[in-house]
Amino acid sequence: MTGMTRVVLAEDDPAISEPLARALGREGYAIEVAEDGQRALELASKGDADLLILDLGLPLLDGLEVCRRLRAAGSDLPILVLTARADEVDTVVGLDAGADDYVTKPFRLAELLARTRALLRRGPSESSETGPIVRMEAEARRAWFGDTELQLAPKEFDLLALLVKEQGKVVSRDQIMKEVWGSRWMSSSKTLDMHISVLRRKLGDDATAPKFITTVRGVGFRFDAPTLTS
Ligand code: CA
Repeated sequence: MTGMTRVVLAEDDPAISEPLARALGREGYAIEVAEDGQRALELASKGDADLLILDLGLPLLDGLEVCRRLRAAGSDLPILVLTARADEVDTVVGLDAGADDYVTKPFRLAELLARTRALLRRGPSESSETGPIVRMEAEARRAWFGDTELQLAPKEFDLLALLVKEQGKVVSRDQIMKEVWGSRWMSSSKTLDMHISVLRRKLGDDATAPKFITTVRGVGFRFDAPTLTS
């Protein structure tokens, strides 16, 4: 997952965090959701985050305190505050707590995304993109590699979706055969290997030096790449 722009979303209300995480995912960011202030502080302190979107009203540790502690620890992570109360804004943004910008709830998604982009542009860490990412929309059954939509046969799509869902982990041949082809007995067949080689070709991947799909001998396959699913 290196090279992707990482956004920590600290929001305890799933009615806000879930659609927001999906929208941020569609923008191409890797999202980690924290449901309380303690977790937000942990994720934002790890050092690989590029932006913290921070609700002020969080359990365990409120957003203001998260903000203060991050700045006290010397973090220059850009922080975009979500607040329901406009009168809190002066305290949060500026010298007191050190947030960079704010959006008041209820907010328009387009506004929040615009502010997110603006903060990331001026953020301290230059993001170093490693290359095109794979993006999948499960419901529409569409997949993109960078800006290019992949033309995938149904089983190719299912196979890629499974590998992407389990990215970073080895998926066994048995599991693939069961989930994609609905059978176990075919697990010795060449069908799977053919589909893997087609996917590699469509992703411009090389079996001998794979960037995306790695063969784990005797076990199965592993997908390693920045990806997005929705
Ligand atoms: Ca809240």
